[in-house]
Formats: sequence, structure tokens, C-alpha cells
Amino acid sequence: MSIEPRVVLITGASRGIGRATAVMLGEQGAAVGVNYVSDRAAAQLTAGEVERAGGRAFLLPGDVADEAAVLSMFDTLDAACGRVDALVNNAGIVAPSMPLAQMDAARLKRMFDVNVLGAYLCAREAARRMSTDRGGRGGAIVNVSSAASRLGSPNEYVDYAGSKGAVDTMTIGLAKELGPRGIRVNAVRPGLIETDIHASGGRPERAAVLGAQTPLGRPGKAEEVARAIVWLLSDAASYVNGALLDVSAGR
Ligand code: NAP
Repeated sequence: MSIEPRVVLITGASRGIGRATAVMLGEQGAAVGVNYVSDRAAAQLTAGEVERAGGRAFLLPGDVADEAAVLSMFDTLDAACGRVDALVNNAGIVAPSMPLAQMDAARLKRMFDVNVLGAYLCAREAARRMSTDRGGRGGAIVNVSSAASRLGSPNEYVDYAGSKGAVDTMTIGLAKELGPRGIRVNAVRPGLIETDIHASGGRPERAAVLGAQTPLGRPGKAEEVARAIVWLLSDAASYVNGALLDVSAGR
């Protein structure tokens, strides 16, 4: 594996934690695949920031829950860069807060399609390319889980929490499956981070209000999670595999 990952595909890189990670990798000179699902203008903004920081950026539109779209994202990056060195499985959604008794099947299905199926499909494509037993050069995967996986998110979104539990378990399994094939697999579990995701769940004030109740007394910034992701991708974390790294102010 190269000293720093040079070709990195980040899902959901148009905004929030994904964007912050993309820009930080751009500062290291990386080529960054900037995936997004609908906000092309935001993705273009990310790409511009990556390139101003010193990296290269490739826009990769596509819904991670759609297998054909995932294949196309990876194929596009293959064509542009010849390989992929790392994946950040970051794309994720929430939905309006409510108890399970009020959730319909369409909501539950979409939650698991994006947060679980999408993460598995992207990890599979990364494994197919990076595994040393398939001719790859090894690499690293960081999955963006959530503190919700251990808190359970009662009355808010137990579906989201469960989807992140699956991401944690995938991380543990793939670390063991892919470690011998040259790929380290880890997860970060962010707490209350100031991004658009809370507004998309109908509660824009959520991070500020609940963040104030954490041991550090404030919400986190996307860059504070991105720093952990970039570290896990780097050779500085060369013996870290299967870790679930809480970035949640001790909450
Ligand atoms: P965000 O600001 O809402 O950004 C979400 C990103 O994911 C956007 O780039 C969005 O693309 C993309 N996306 C959404 N659905 C997608 C799909 N089906 N296919 C491809 N891309 C998709 O979210 P964030 O807060 O940065 O969250 C990033 C990750 O951190 C998520 O996995 C989330 O669960 C996790 N997390 C966040 C927090 C927090 O407090 N913010 C806490 C714990 C965990 P468009 O711009 O095109 O919509």
C-alpha cells in the first residue's frame, strides 16, 4: 500500500463529513472520487475545494443503494485513475423522529437500502479491486457508523440505529476477512455533528441542543470526524484493524 492513500472514493462527499474528509485528503494530494446522489452543485463545490487544496477530484453521481450506480462509480474512477487505494463508506440518511410503531415499511426499506446495502455494495467493489489475492495492492476502508449503534436511538430512529449496528458488524467481519488480503477495515462512530443531516430528519437544531448536553458541552464539527477518518486511512494507523472509533465527545 502507498504511504498515504492516493485514490480514495468517498460516498456522500458533496456535503458534511464526506466533504470535510475529501478536502483534507485533497490537502495530502489525493485523487478523490466525490460521490453524491442529488446535489450536484454541492458536489462541484467539494470538487473545487479538493482541487484548490492540492488534490484531484472526480464527480461520481449515483445512489449507493443502486448496484448499477455503484458499479458505474467504481468503473469511472478506475478509468480515470487506474486503481482505488481506499474507500470511505460515508453516505447515510436519517428520517423524521418517531417511535417504531409509526414507521412504514417504505421508510424502513430505504433506511436499510442506503445505510446497509449501500455500504456493503461499496465495500464489495473496493474489496474486489484492492484485495491482494485478486491482484490488488491492498488498501483501507473506513465505514462511517454512528454512536446511535450503541445508544439505540429510542423514540427517534431505531431503524437508523439498527442500520449503523449492521455497519459496525460489517466492519468487524470485514476486518477479519480482508486483513489477510491487505485491506484494513475500521469505522468511526460520530456523535452529534453539525451537518445538514439533522435538518433532513426535520430537526435542524438537534446537534446544537443535544451537543450541549455531552461531556464536552458542544456539538462536533465535520472536520473533527474527518481528521479521525483520514488518520484511519493513513499508514499512521497501520496496525489498527476492526476498530470502532467513537468521535462523540464521550456521549
Ligand atoms: P449530510 O450532511 O446529510 O450529507 C449526506 C451525504 O450523503 C450527502 O453528500 C448526500 O448527497 C449523500 N447521500 C445521501 N444519500 C445518498 C445515497 N443514497 N447515495 C449516495 N449518496 C447519498 O450527512 P452527514 O452528517 O455528513 O453524514 C455523513 C455520515 O455520517 C452518515 O453516514 C451519517 O449517518 C453519519 N453520522 C452523522 C452524524 C451527525 O451528527 N451529522 C452522527 C453520526 C453519524 P447529496 O448532497 O447529493 O444529497
